[in-house]
This record gives sequence, structure tokens and C-alpha cells, in this order.
Amino acid sequence: MTLTATVIAALGVAGVLVGSFLNVVIYRVPLGKSVVRPRSSCPTCGNVLSARDNVPIVSWIVLKGRCRRCGERIGMRYPLIEIVTGLLWAGLAWWALVVDGALPLLPLVLVLGSVGVSLAVIDLDHHRLPDQLVLPLYPIVLFGLAFPGVVSGEWPVWLTLGGGLLWLVGVGLPWLVTGGRGMGFGDVKLAPVLGMVLGWWAFSAAATGLLISFLLGAVVGVAVLVSGRGDRKSAVPFGPFLLVGALVGLVIGPIVGSAYVEIFQL
Ligand SMILES: [Zn+2]
Repeated sequence: MTLTATVIAALGVAGVLVGSFLNVVIYRVPLGKSVVRPRSSCPTCGNVLSARDNVPIVSWIVLKGRCRRCGERIGMRYPLIEIVTGLLWAGLAWWALVVDGALPLLPLVLVLGSVGVSLAVIDLDHHRLPDQLVLPLYPIVLFGLAFPGVVSGEWPVWLTLGGGLLWLVGVGLPWLVTGGRGMGFGDVKLAPVLGMVLGWWAFSAAATGLLISFLLGAVVGVAVLVSGRGDRKSAVPFGPFLLVGALVGLVIGPIVGSAYVEIFQL
């Protein structure tokens, strides 16, 4: 295996392990419980998981998705979140290694991506984005962007603030106008963090990401209404769209930006 492939594979495995911890975060943070203690147990019978029953993905398959003691079903979502986080880490590593200048951004996007997975699932479950997870992202992003600044010697301060402002206005304005329907205040607090990282990378990434968030939100929102699975009141949470939009914007934003410039001969 080449060095690149080895790094991607190693980070993919690390991502699976992180995903296992995110399962704990997703379950406990909305309940106000500690993510450190106690050890994981079966929610039905309280059986504390032994080390061999707590191996990501593998234990779930070996136990055929059931608790060893009481036989109660353990949701498919646990291995699924581990797989998704592993793929996300491997994908981000690939992106950072292949795209010119992206490598110093890797530590930050891995942290943001991981917190993002837990935020997306919590938002789907509870229709909220807990402050305990959103607010620490502000110092994390400032430190996370200082690192590539030191490495590359580039400090795109105005682009960073511009991206943050674009996302703040882009999400905050609809929130104000609709009186908090469609999106919540949690989305308004999350948006500038994502916008700043995207703006640091490229303003086209911030613009594309925001656009994609709204397109996804519109498409899924209409699909839910048409399928009759929900009414206007059971609003689809917007956090997952912001997070997915940010990820897509990060990857394709600069490509979209240069295509735009070429087409319109700017
Ligand atoms: Zn059990």
C-alpha cells in the first residue's frame, strides 16, 4: 500500500472508533448525562457491556444486533453511525491529501465532521442542537484555523469573517422572518462556525455550501410533505442540511466557483 492509502485507511479505522464514542454522545448529551461515565450498558436490562461486546461494528454483527443478556434488539443505527463516521474520516483524509493546500485543514475538519455527525443525529432525534456541542465549536474553529495559518503563512481574515457573516445572515434572516419555524435558533448559532471554515478555504465554498443546504432542505421538505409523512408543523430539522451542505461546499465549492467565473467570463 502506498503511504497515502495507508493514511486514509488508518484514519478510516480511527473514524469508526470515534463513531463508537459519538453513539454515546448522541444518546447522553440531550439527556444531560456524562459522556465519560458510567460505561455503556443495555438500555433494557442494564447489562454493562464487556470489552468484547463493545467492539465497533464487529460486536453488533457477532451478537446479531441483540443484547447478550436479555436479547433485546440493538438498533442498526449504532453500527451505521460508526460506518458513516469511518467513511467520513477516510473521505476527508483523501480530500486533504489530494487537494492542494488542504492538508493543514485536516485536524479541524475531522473534529468538525465528528461533532457534525452527532449534531445531525441529535437534531433528527430531538429537533434541537445542544449548546454543549455547538458553542465549543467557536474556540475550536479559531484554534483550528490558526494552525493552517501558521503552516501556510496565509491569514484570510476577511474571507473567514465574510463566510461566517454570509452564513449568519443566510440562516438568521429566514429564522427571523419565519419566526423560528423551519429553522431553530440552534441553526443560527451553528451557521457562522461552518461559514467561517468554508470562507477560510474559499468564498465560493461558503456560497456553494449555503446554497446546497437550502436546496437539500427544500427538496427533502417538499418530499416529506408530498409523501404525507409529516405536515408543515412537524418541520424537518434544518441542522443536517447545514452540515451536509457545508461538507459538499467544502469539497466542490472552489470547482463551482471557477466554473462560474469561466461561464460568465468574469
Ligand atoms: Zn439487555
